[in-house]
Amino acid sequence: MPSHSPNAELEQLLQEALRVAENAYAPYSNFRVGAALKLSNGEIVTGTNVENVSYGLTICAERSALVAAVSKYGPGIRVVAVAVANLNNTASPPCGACRQVLAEFVDEQTPVVFPSTSGYRTMPFHEVLPLAFEMKLK
Ligand code: ZN
Repeated sequence: MPSHSPNAELEQLLQEALRVAENAYAPYSNFRVGAALKLSNGEIVTGTNVENVSYGLTICAERSALVAAVSKYGPGIRVVAVAVANLNNTASPPCGACRQVLAEFVDEQTPVVFPSTSGYRTMPFHEVLPLAFEMKLK
């Protein structure tokens, strides 16, 4: 397990992300990713990447987990912690698309833990995505 274990809650979340990564559907890249989201209702929801032969249709583990969370608990849920892990022992912070999608369900301080080049790293969401797209029509 990670050498920089932030706290017990994030550690548990990482374990869930690693566990679910076993379920990844990644026949093209063999990059097997899991994500675990701790929700405001106390529940943990997980997701994996699901690839497709039409590569652009692939969905990442983070968005997969978020879609599952909203599907199960409705649009009012909030994400209070995010963990991402992979079975390939490689650095993989959430991609830009996932950061933008997560932005609507997290707070600025929501911790995000992910594999970096030097073990697991934890950052508040506002550092992971400092300038999320928003649309404020007049
Ligand atoms: Zn992504």
